Amino acid sequence: MSKELKNIAKSYIHEYLKYNNPNLKINKTQLFECPFKHIHKDDIGKPTCKVYPQFGYKVTCYNSACGELGNIFDIFRRLEPDMKHLKDEEIADYLSHLLDIKQDEDVDKLLDVYYNSGFHLIPLCANDPSKTDKENAKLQKSPIQGESWKKNICHDLRKWKEWVDAGLGLGLVGGKISNVLLLDIDSDVTYEKMKDRINDTSAQDTKQGKHFLWEYDSDFDDINHCNFRKQGYEMEIRANNAYIVVAPTVVEGYIRTWNGKKITKMPKELKKFLLDLVKKESKKEEKKESDGIREAIENENFNIEDGLRGLDGNCNDTWITLGGILRKKMSPKKVEWALQTFNKLLADPMDYHQIKSMCYQLSKYDNFDKKDLAKEILEHLSLESVRFANAFEMEKSLGHTKKEIESALDYLLKEEKVVKVGRNFKALNKIEWETDFMSIGKPLGFEVPYFGKFNKFDDGSMIIIGGRSGTGKTHLAMNIIKKFVDMGINPKLLTTEAGSKFGMIGANLGLKIDDYFFKRVADATNVEFDDDSVTIIDWLKPPNSDYSKLDTIMENLNNQLVKHRGLLIALVQIRKDGTFFAPDLFDFYASLVATYNWTQKYNSQTKETVADSTNTYFQTSKMRDSKVGVQWIKIPTKFDKDTKIISLRTGE
Ligand SMILES: [Zn+2]
Repeated sequence: MSKELKNIAKSYIHEYLKYNNPNLKINKTQLFECPFKHIHKDDIGKPTCKVYPQFGYKVTCYNSACGELGNIFDIFRRLEPDMKHLKDEEIADYLSHLLDIKQDEDVDKLLDVYYNSGFHLIPLCANDPSKTDKENAKLQKSPIQGESWKKNICHDLRKWKEWVDAGLGLGLVGGKISNVLLLDIDSDVTYEKMKDRINDTSAQDTKQGKHFLWEYDSDFDDINHCNFRKQGYEMEIRANNAYIVVAPTVVEGYIRTWNGKKITKMPKELKKFLLDLVKKESKKEEKKESDGIREAIENENFNIEDGLRGLDGNCNDTWITLGGILRKKMSPKKVEWALQTFNKLLADPMDYHQIKSMCYQLSKYDNFDKKDLAKEILEHLSLESVRFANAFEMEKSLGHTKKEIESALDYLLKEEKVVKVGRNFKALNKIEWETDFMSIGKPLGFEVPYFGKFNKFDDGSMIIIGGRSGTGKTHLAMNIIKKFVDMGINPKLLTTEAGSKFGMIGANLGLKIDDYFFKRVADATNVEFDDDSVTIIDWLKPPNSDYSKLDTIMENLNNQLVKHRGLLIALVQIRKDGTFFAPDLFDFYASLVATYNWTQKYNSQTKETVADSTNTYFQTSKMRDSKVGVQWIKIPTKFDKDTKIISLRTGE
């Protein structure tokens, strides 16, 4: 029995419950009547159960007599006591017959087919149980990185499997990159109109219609995606830089399936038909002028018959003024190009050399905006390939004059946004977050996850959590972020680790884009925080593991908190014996210092001590404002390997 069937069976929980209770109703908020209602103590006749798809389709009942009911197999064993000794796989097999679960969704096989077809895929957002079906359908079709989804395009089986395992959907990117053309037919009526034009080719069923695939054809090079709704066809052609949602993604409870046919060449007549529709559509959209404009842009030709007049005699001054205005924001080279371009508008254009000499004169009126150039310099310095540069190098790569570069650098130095090391400049990693952070009241207006019960925290607090290598520091960091997000706070994660492990763990916990901000930094010690923000560093380490530098680093972080307030939670590595590298330093600066540990189990048969990663705990060594009267306490936690959730044993 395949592992895939077991997972698919879990997603049939609603169907299974309906099979047991044909009258079962699932309301708008996804709540339904508990199958074990009879054991409820104070039942008020309202639905109490809900399925959590992102957590293995587990069911939770809000009545205190029930609590977590488990997944489809757990519920099956309770409802069918005779079969309670069956293994999950055996129950899955039993249910596949009972509920007519299709078995052809062998994810590995499917991904192999995608791989062998040369497809490029992207990850899409997971289902969110707190949203309505309609909102979810939209969400499940959205790429996890929003606008910047193209960054994730890849042809990598292992990555695709990671995405599927993390509960994410898959999008097939069309066009040259995957060598496919995609036609998305959204209604039966349109399909009826189109079916005679469509040949035998690879196709996928969706809830409303079908996706057809054909081999890519260079006649579609200019097409991104084009909708034919206005022309009476509920369909879209998708080519370059457009994607469709593909199996095994489930949208609105519908598992997409392929017909298993080969991708063929698009029939000539269909191609002509579609390209004609595209032409009509683009004419409709852009009217007739658009082609002319496109051509004019390409040829840098305004196509004006007479050209602009009225500057006669004043042309020189007007052009120098215009150049001066442009120079506020643009480099001399760009200004020259702009002036040459505008020149073509004139009825009597000036000659090339005249404009060239104007550009020389322009330096007299030097009043460029150094803030804009400063921004450009910072962007330049934050490039992985640059990091350090001297004024001369920047002059060459940014196309500005030496004087301008020096003036902008001077400004950046005053603003403490760069440091000078010898002749080189280095950016001080002031992070440009993508969204404004919600303002947090002072003092710290929220409960700190895991520790808020035991210690009081002021605005501007620092928490240090130590963990041994490989004991799930990143899992802890993402759980902390999830808890903040649940409180309506969008924390900022500075990660010093390579790879995207945190993203996968976050997705598994149900975190979405915009829930938190992250920045990968080589060295988290010289960053600048934002005001009143929750910052999490995973993990804090001195450059080159030079722990003698730690005092400077801690002082810097503390200065950041004094200046910007908010909360900093830094995860640090500890020695194998569980001690900190610089305990006094951490105790001095932090409001709370703790280690995160696995419990050790003794196996009496093998006489070995083994780690129990489920029963985890925090051990505090310092609590500045303890609510429990002591500094040293053990806080038991539980790590659930399936859901990746770390919860307080005391209940939270
Ligand atoms: Zn119940």
